[in-house]
Amino acid sequence: MRYIDIDKLEVGAQWLERARQATESLRHASPEDREKLLKSKENARIWSDLKPELLKLSNGKCWYCETKEIRSDNAVDHYRPKGNVRGVLPPHEGYWWLAFDWRNYRFTCAFCNSARRSPTTDGGKQDFFPLWNEAGRARTESDALDSELPLLLDPTKVRDIGLLAFSEDGSVGPAMNESRKREFRSADESIHRYHLHHPFLVERRMSLLRQVSKWIDQADRQLDRFARMDDPVAYNEAEDRINDIRKAAAPEAEYSAAVRHLLAGKVSSEAAKQVLNTL
Ligand SMILES: [Zn+2]
Repeated sequence: MRYIDIDKLEVGAQWLERARQATESLRHASPEDREKLLKSKENARIWSDLKPELLKLSNGKCWYCETKEIRSDNAVDHYRPKGNVRGVLPPHEGYWWLAFDWRNYRFTCAFCNSARRSPTTDGGKQDFFPLWNEAGRARTESDALDSELPLLLDPTKVRDIGLLAFSEDGSVGPAMNESRKREFRSADESIHRYHLHHPFLVERRMSLLRQVSKWIDQADRQLDRFARMDDPVAYNEAEDRINDIRKAAAPEAEYSAAVRHLLAGKVSSEAAKQVLNTL
């Protein structure tokens, strides 16, 4: 998961007007009619129309798992569900007033967004939106969202980004120990809900991290050789490998958060230090 600066989203005046009108009709509808309105194709088009702009912010990657192509039809996720919130008591009819609020949109792949099972894992955010403090949950439009402590990591929040840790075998876990209860549970719950432990992702992160580790070793060897012998060939080879590593850690690259985590862990590597200086 990389940080997404959602304030950079380009939203035109025409779109804002459509969103305003659609929200107004929800305000005046009965709960039953509201549900119908939220499911109507015409209204779904309002958030889908922002897809190209949402996609630009992440260079075409899912905001949760950083996969570019497949993991299928990418969708617009409502971070706070627009309809019934699953697993909440007393029942919550959803944050319908945020259905057309662009700050509530997250660009996601179907694996992160929908219920999926693999032989060893399951996940998918669906309509879940667990909180650390259920008593602070907003239930009406006038309730403050700031009183909520969401458990699901949010790519638009700077402080959420560093809460996941990646291992060289491609696995992912909380970046802290269990004594930091809320953050630990937040990372743990997000890994499950966004299905970040799906074998497909683990496999892809593993092969990428192995490749980057090799580049780091090669670059360090050449840097060492250059330091001892002033060998220009070694200098240029080190530069090439460092560039390979830098591209893999750049925001537009798939799974770059895992690469950055790997680099940060290589404390004695000169190559890793140099790449981190460029990020
Ligand atoms: Zn995803």
